[in-house]
Amino acid sequence: MSHYELRCRECGRTWGNQPRSICDDCFSPLEVAYDYDALRASISREQIAQRPPNMWRYSQLLPLPQGYEPRLPVGFTPLFQAPRLAEQLSGTTAAAKNLYLKNDAVCLPTLSFKDRVVAVALSQAKAFGFDTVSCSSTGNLANAVAAQAAREGLKAWIFIPSDLEPAKVLGTNVFGAKVVRIAGNYDQVNRLCSQIADEHRWGFVNVNLRPYYSEGSKTVVMRLKRSVTGVSQS
Ligand SMILES: [Zn+2]
Repeated sequence: MSHYELRCRECGRTWGNQPRSICDDCFSPLEVAYDYDALRASISREQIAQRPPNMWRYSQLLPLPQGYEPRLPVGFTPLFQAPRLAEQLSGTTAAAKNLYLKNDAVCLPTLSFKDRVVAVALSQAKAFGFDTVSCSSTGNLANAVAAQAAREGLKAWIFIPSDLEPAKVLGTNVFGAKVVRIAGNYDQVNRLCSQIADEHRWGFVNVNLRPYYSEGSKTVVMRLKRSVTGVSQS
């Protein structure tokens, strides 16, 4: 039994684990729900601190398939104290006393925060048996999907608005993904991807894998919280 499953945010119906992002009963978004009681017994701050410095140290708090072995050290990007900005803001908010900026522009492998979400989505894409992954994107997500799909041995198809500057998907092409330019804006590209996801057995990271994809985002905050509360770094 997995320690997580998909649950409807509105009506609460559970859907197990499958490539799906919408509840058929009430058309609301699905999210990953964890069995926190079971998790509490198997996880400790000390144990996490002894693991390598990347987002996989929080694996029990992520929706990863059983026995999943990550191949890339994603996440755990540095924090920089910003005392001068804190000073400027101190007149407006009390929370600016200890101000840190998170530099996710050094996140591996494609230097963007999207690497986190794609890493979790692709772990599930493999578990669900997809051999092709895809996304609608305006740049960062395209590069993250293309790079990590190449690493995982998955095919990648990327759908972008036709007027996107070529420089934004340069990395996508380098990693061998198929890039399809769609005559339309991002919303239209996104809608097209939802239709394709219904027809093909493809894992769209931001469509049918979206609930898992979204969980990767929270790893940004995990490091932040640990640092500002003064716990020593490993
Ligand atoms: Zn529902």
